[in-house]
Amino acid sequence: MLNIVIFGAPGSGKGTQSARIVEKYGLNHISTGDVLRAEIKNGTELGKTAKGYIDNGQLIPDALMIDILASVFDSLKDSKGVIFDGFPRTIAQADALKAMLKERGQEVSVMLDLEVPEDELMTRLIKRGQESGRADDNEETIKKRLVVYHSQTAPLIDWYKKDGTYRHINGLGTMDGIFADICKAIENI
Ligand code: AMP
Repeated sequence: MLNIVIFGAPGSGKGTQSARIVEKYGLNHISTGDVLRAEIKNGTELGKTAKGYIDNGQLIPDALMIDILASVFDSLKDSKGVIFDGFPRTIAQADALKAMLKERGQEVSVMLDLEVPEDELMTRLIKRGQESGRADDNEETIKKRLVVYHSQTAPLIDWYKKDGTYRHINGLGTMDGIFADICKAIENI
């Protein structure tokens, strides 16, 4: 199985590129942000809990997020592999993902780090907020999310370098150019 972690700051293009990877390689896509937004839309208890964190630009607690991830993963049938989009976001989540996959006889094949400069992230997210109306894409919450990214999520770069699965991708450029670099990294596994 091909298990890919797509990594990067908010606005780095993880969702957009994931859709193309899914199409080309026939993988399942797990976007934890999409899972949480669906729970909010359906008015579930989990959605109510998640909304407080999301609207404030904070991460959902690890224990809760790890349970959600495992149950979504186990609900997939006949999977050729999974692209993990927005998970892991903390060291605890990366440890948990490794353990979860190992228990199931699997592992992360590659971690793709989409790097985009901070001013470009801000521009993209503000534009996305105007177009999609996503509640957490407003300037104040974006700033908090970027702080959270640097303090809690960016340390995963070293974690995956040590794991040996890290690949850097320049996230600036055309969508096609970035996708071509991603395909090269996947085909070099
Ligand atoms: P995303 O769509 O990936 O940008 O996620 C939107 C929001 O959902 C984040 O700002 C977090 O509040 C929450 N979230 C998504 N994935 C995770 C995760 N792996 N751990 C904690 N919180 C998450």
